[in-house]
Formats: sequence, structure tokens, C-alpha cells
Amino acid sequence: MVNYMLYISGELENLTNFQPRGSVDDPDFTYYFKFKCENCGEVTEKETCVSLNGTLPLPKKGTTNLIQKCKFCKREGTVTMIPGRGSPLTNDSSELGKYALLMVFDCRGFEPLDFVPLMMSSQTRRSVRIASPNPDDIENSPVNAPANTSED
Ligand SMILES: [Zn+2]
Repeated sequence: MVNYMLYISGELENLTNFQPRGSVDDPDFTYYFKFKCENCGEVTEKETCVSLNGTLPLPKKGTTNLIQKCKFCKREGTVTMIPGRGSPLTNDSSELGKYALLMVFDCRGFEPLDFVPLMMSSQTRRSVRIASPNPDDIENSPVNAPANTSED
């Protein structure tokens, strides 16, 4: 099992606490991803949507938020969202070019590749990263941070 953390950053103008409508754990907020099959490496053609509201029972026990079958090798994988770990992107963090952890995804069988922030404003689009567990690396190296936040 691998937990992928979704981080956001961006320039906030006259706004703080940037997050999905409601809260970071907004059950209706939909995340769109492209996934790569861990078995054969096939990448999904279309984005798949995942939201906390959409739950599916697992064959053994518990629930998950997405069950998807690889079109190529037919291997099944799941994506389970783990709420309660995220926080809104504040104006302060934004000015420092820091990232805020938005949501954690427990992915089995699939690796999230592209996060498509369809419901987010355009200025954050380029500053979204998916990372597996080392948040410190991200804080220290905001690779996609907006260029014009670095003027001293
Ligand atoms: Zn596959």
C-alpha cells in the first residue's frame, strides 16, 4: 500500500485558506486523476474521478472510493481517500512558496500520475504536485512554485 499526498500551492490574491468548497474534506469535491497500472504500466486514457462521497464496498471488508480495472491487463486496483490530514493553503504559505497538503490517497494497484484540478482556479493549476510520503522534500523544494514569489 502506498499513500500519495496531493499538495497544492499557488499565488493567492486577496484570498486565503484556499481549499475545496466546504473544507479540505469536502465530501462532494471531486478529484480527477490519470492512473498508471502498477502491473503493466498502462496509463488510463481518461481522467477518473474520485470523491469522498463516492464509496464502494470492498470484497473483504471496508470501503474504498474507487475500484478500477486496467484496460490492458485487467488487473484491478483501488484508491481510498484518507480525510482529516489536509489543511487549506493560507496566504502566508502561498507567499513563501510553500505547499499545503490537500488530501491523502491510499492507492493499490494504480499510481496517480496527473491530477487535473478541474474545479480549481487557473492560477493554482501549475502548482499541484503528487508525492509519496516525504513531505519535507516538498516543503524544501517547491519545484513548481510560481516564479514571481521569489523576489526579495
Ligand atoms: Zn495493467
